[in-house]
Amino acid sequence: MTLASLPPLREVIARLDLTARKSLGQNFLLDLNLTGRIAREAGPLDGRDVLEIGPGPGGLTRALLANGARRVLAIERDERFLPALAEIDAASGHRLAVEPADALAADEPALFAKHGLAAPVTIVANLPYNVGTALLVKWLTTPAWPAWFDSLTLMFQREVAERLVAAPRTSAYGRLSVLAQWRTRPRILFDVHPSAFVPPPSITSSVVRLDVVSAPEEAPLTWVERVTAAAFGQRRKMLRSSLKSLGADPQPFLAAAGLPETARAEEIPVPGFLALARAYAAQRA
Ligand code: SAM
Repeated sequence: MTLASLPPLREVIARLDLTARKSLGQNFLLDLNLTGRIAREAGPLDGRDVLEIGPGPGGLTRALLANGARRVLAIERDERFLPALAEIDAASGHRLAVEPADALAADEPALFAKHGLAAPVTIVANLPYNVGTALLVKWLTTPAWPAWFDSLTLMFQREVAERLVAAPRTSAYGRLSVLAQWRTRPRILFDVHPSAFVPPPSITSSVVRLDVVSAPEEAPLTWVERVTAAAFGQRRKMLRSSLKSLGADPQPFLAAAGLPETARAEEIPVPGFLALARAYAAQRA
């Protein structure tokens, strides 16, 4: 058996009775043209090691392997998919490793050591909607940077994709925009209509690619997280008021960062938040 001669995904799903579970965000991609396009956009994959989250019946997994990935590690919480994934592993010449686990709790570098992957890997996933943002935040807040991945090609709800690329002074601009644009270069590649999924979700999705910036502007991660949480937590308030939740009078920190105290969170570009994080870190060390 080769990857090209594997049975159609619909047949595998019917044979193994893999009905989609809403609680695990299961919306499958069965169109191999579409999964092939996502794999190509993540590429070139020749000789690359890939981390996939939530392979499900394996449509995207097949495409990643067919596009030349050296090894794919797939983390899947639902063990019903293991037999289908074992067939793909065999058909790929044993280039697929499957870890039955919750990706939110996974220690990825330890899993790479266990399954013979070499960092930096590329991350590719049709993410479960209910954990997609949390997973991305987990990866973007990796303490050591550059991280153990160098690019991420991910399916999100269109609304989340827009938050990743949002510019200041727009309603989509928020914590996620600042984190993503500080440490990566995010771009929306294309939209995917609900009818491409089985079962179809209620909203349009987008494939996003985020390329890791190897030397982002220096700023203390914990303070970037704290100041953006405080500022966007009360986004309609002026910073001199919203930042009070950090404990001290915000005015000297805003002055040190060169930011007007009357500004609101959504008016501050990414470098402004980084300067603010440095000011807090310096004065409260
Ligand atoms: N990649 C497949 C495709 O494109 O057809 C399935 C995508 S489906 C949107 C999301 C997948 O993630 C499901 O297979 C689901 O079981 C899995 N999943 C959900 N939560 C997970 C978690 N916390 N960790 C790992 N996998 C998870």
